Amino acid sequence: MQVVRDGIRCECGNRGCWEQYASGNALVREARALMAAGSPTITDHFRSVVGNAEDITGPLVTEAAKQGDRLARELLEEIGRWLGIGIADLAAALDPGMFVIGGGVSAAGDLLLEPARTAYRSHLTGRGYRPEARIVAAELGNEAGLVGAADLARAGLQGADAS
Ligand SMILES: [Zn+2]
Repeated sequence: MQVVRDGIRCECGNRGCWEQYASGNALVREARALMAAGSPTITDHFRSVVGNAEDITGPLVTEAAKQGDRLARELLEEIGRWLGIGIADLAAALDPGMFVIGGGVSAAGDLLLEPARTAYRSHLTGRGYRPEARIVAAELGNEAGLVGAADLARAGLQGADAS
């Protein structure tokens, strides 16, 4: 799903895909870019938690944000904002009652989801008339896909036993 025309190149071959702006990959890319450029926005605290540019991971940035680091929170807010904008587009087409956010970056919880909810509300088509969907973190976090696949396989096996 394209959110920025002629935006950042995506591994899928297109440009400006949502994934390039609202994901753990985006979080790491932005943090590395600031670090590699020696940006004055880099705090000593941020540097002490995430290490060198090449060592940065999503969980480290999230950890810094949870410890209250200003830059890490700003980076998560930006990712969250893009998440909310894309969710508003999905809501316009599909109108679900709830969006469940999984993947590693969902471990940031409300540090990610509050900016997402705010952006969602301000970008939602027909806001004021349309019921607002809930935006929540997946209970199983980054393991949700794995657990779901295992559960599907188990259900399949049970089905095989019954036949
Ligand atoms: Zn793509």
